[in-house]
Amino acid sequence: MLDERRARMSESPIPSDFIHVESKLDGITVYAPASRVENIPDARDFKCPNCGATTAYSPRAASVTCSNCGSVYAIHADNVGRGAAEFEFTLETVKQAETYSAPEVLRGWGVTRRELHCESCGANTSVAPTELSTTCPFCASNRVAARTAMPEIFRPRFLIPFQIERDACARFSREWLKRGWMYPSDLVRVAYNAQFTGIYLSFWTFSARVQAAWRAEVGREKTEQFFDMSEMKFKTRHRLEWKWEQGQVALPFDDELQTGTTRISASLLKRLAPYQLNALVTYEPSYLAGWRAQSYEISLNDAWDAARGRMREIARDACDEQIDSNHVRNFSMNAAFDDEAWRLLLLPAYLATYKFAGKSYQIVINGQTGKVAGDKPVAWTKVWLIVGILILPGILLAAVALVLGALHFGTGGWFVLGGFLFVVGAVIAVILIQQAMRAGEA
Ligand SMILES: [Zn+2]
Ligand SMILES: [Zn+2]
Repeated sequence: MLDERRARMSESPIPSDFIHVESKLDGITVYAPASRVENIPDARDFKCPNCGATTAYSPRAASVTCSNCGSVYAIHADNVGRGAAEFEFTLETVKQAETYSAPEVLRGWGVTRRELHCESCGANTSVAPTELSTTCPFCASNRVAARTAMPEIFRPRFLIPFQIERDACARFSREWLKRGWMYPSDLVRVAYNAQFTGIYLSFWTFSARVQAAWRAEVGREKTEQFFDMSEMKFKTRHRLEWKWEQGQVALPFDDELQTGTTRISASLLKRLAPYQLNALVTYEPSYLAGWRAQSYEISLNDAWDAARGRMREIARDACDEQIDSNHVRNFSMNAAFDDEAWRLLLLPAYLATYKFAGKSYQIVINGQTGKVAGDKPVAWTKVWLIVGILILPGILLAAVALVLGALHFGTGGWFVLGGFLFVVGAVIAVILIQQAMRAGEA
């Protein structure tokens, strides 16, 4: 028994003076300081058994901890990684799940949660029942109303626990804010105080095997010789020969992520990726202790429609690749989906909203990797100033050359040089302007 305990301690983040105490809750192992009274945490709101304070999941300890007395409660979740079981489904089982007739689909968070409804942006955020803050993490509005959590949502099956501490967000965002030159110089100072909220976002993942069969008329260039009567000689000419062709591709799709939230733009989420799905663990409500979560806003059906659309596009590209000609007409494709499976995941992210010159900007940090994605204001006066500096010398030189030329000085060379400088400056300026237009989404 003792050996077993030692073995477990050596691989866990539990301090060595903590002992394993009896737990009456499935899925949770309790460790408490050796001298303290053994007790069980209250599963409803995760009150600390030692001191009654509210506990929270700590990324550093990878356990639920009490910041008041230092107790650590280990969570028993299996690290399932990419092998996490998926729900096989057909349209039938999606319907079953939505009409409550699939018993294997659990509902609710599995723990008492409160729901905050934002009257500004409409987002719903699930929070611990003891949380006092009433700021919307998506838009920073305080016009938030509390209500009980919706019990009918599907319970997520897996999640990636937070690995980045909240304290680290300021450093990550500062480094990100400083990157690039075309931003206002006081951006770092203004945005530095942005408050980050840790929130689990809902994602669907889909796996499927797609069999796509295509048929199209493919044109191939034929070269033929003909006798030109007018010139009395043989000539060659090219023409397209159209032929019906067909083929098929088989594509396996594994864990295609499909967002479940509508509050963060697709381009932001794309820049937040990737998440390392091999860190997936089975869902335990304890991971949510002290953290916010957002249940999905995009239904399983709608998410599957979107995922299927994307798989179809990829299959179409694969079919296109089979055709070794640029001339294609009457293309048609039939895609059959097999072995469809889905799962509902929670992925960790930190959100912050900051205001600059009266406009709101969002910063999102990947709670697993620390990758930052966000929107920044572009300092267009700075950009135009540099564009001017780039173009002006060429214009001035050409203008001087023109004036002198008009006064019958031989300045043709100068004019050409001015024109050359202008063209080079203009090309660089166009590249810079394009960069600046993209820079708003860094
Ligand atoms: Zn405590
Ligand atoms: Zn809001």
